[in-house]
Amino acid sequence: MDPITALLDDVLDEIAPQDAGAPADYIPELAAADTDRLAFAVVGPHGRVRAVGDDAAEFTIQSISKPFVLALALQELGRERVLARVGVEPSGEPFNAISLEMGTGRPANPMINAGAIAVSSLVPGGDVDERTARIVETLSAFAGRSLWVDEAVYASESATGDRNRALAHLLRSHGVLEGEVETAVEAYFRQCSLLVTVRDLAVMAATLAFGGVNPLTRRRVIDERVARDVLSIMGSCGMYDFSGEWMLRVGLPAKSGVSGGLLAVAPSQFGVAAFSPRLDTHGNSVRSVLVVEELAERFGMHMLESH
Ligand code: GLN
Repeated sequence: MDPITALLDDVLDEIAPQDAGAPADYIPELAAADTDRLAFAVVGPHGRVRAVGDDAAEFTIQSISKPFVLALALQELGRERVLARVGVEPSGEPFNAISLEMGTGRPANPMINAGAIAVSSLVPGGDVDERTARIVETLSAFAGRSLWVDEAVYASESATGDRNRALAHLLRSHGVLEGEVETAVEAYFRQCSLLVTVRDLAVMAATLAFGGVNPLTRRRVIDERVARDVLSIMGSCGMYDFSGEWMLRVGLPAKSGVSGGLLAVAPSQFGVAAFSPRLDTHGNSVRSVLVVEELAERFGMHMLESH
C-alpha cells in the first residue's frame, strides 16, 4: 500500500467510530440512507485517485452541485451578470433561509438555496430538459465521467420542495429569477439529484484546485479566473452558517451537501471529498467534516499557514 493510502486508512479507522448526527429527513428519500457508510478520496495533480471506505457508494450530490452550476453561469455570462442576481456575502444563516438583500432582492450568496436557485435559472436553456442537459454535461466534465439523475430522489425533492418553490416565487417577484418558477426549481431539483461517489467529488474538487483543468481527463472545463471566483465564494460561504469556523479550523474552500457529501480544495495541490450521511445541526456531515479536518491537519493544508 502506498503511504498516502496508508494515511487515509489510518484516518478511516480513527473517524469511523463517531456516530453523532442524523441523516436529513426533510427529503423522504434521503432519510432512508445507510448511515453506516463512510468513504473519502483525494486526487492530486496527476489525476491519481486514492480512496478508502465505501468509495463505490453512490449518493446524490445535493448542494455540492451549487459551486459547479455557479461555475457554468460565470463561464457563460461573466461575473457582472451573475453578481447582478446574487451576492457574495456569507449569510450566517441556514442553507434554506429566506435571505434576500433589502431593495434588490438578491440572495446573500450562491451557496444557499435562494442563491443557487437564482444562479441555476441563469443557465441557458429554454425548458427544464435543455437546462438540465447543460448542467449535467458540465458537472460530468468536472467529474470526468457521465453523471445521472436519481429519479427517485428527484421525485422526492420535487414532491416536498415547497420551501424552495416559495424562495423561487420571492426571487421572481424581485426580478432576480430568470424565466418561470417551475422551470427554475425543477432544473434545480434535478441538479441536486445527480448521483456521485466520493471519487467523482474528489475529481471535481481537483478540477477546481488545478485552475479548471480536470486532472483525470486533462480537459479544460472552465477558465482559471472562473475557478478562482468559485473557490473564493466557497471559502466564505461553502459551509453555510459554519463557514467562519470551518475556515478557522480547516482553512480550505469547501462545499457540503445534505446527503452527507463534502468536498474541499487545496489550490494547486489536491481535491478531497468525503461522504457519511449523518448530519450536524448546520446540515454538514459530522464524519465528513472530521475527516477533512484531520486530513488538512496531517497534510498541513491550511491555506493561511505560513510555510
Ligand atoms: N436539494 C436540497 C434542497 O434544496 C439541497 C440542500 C443541501 O444540500 N443543503 O433543499
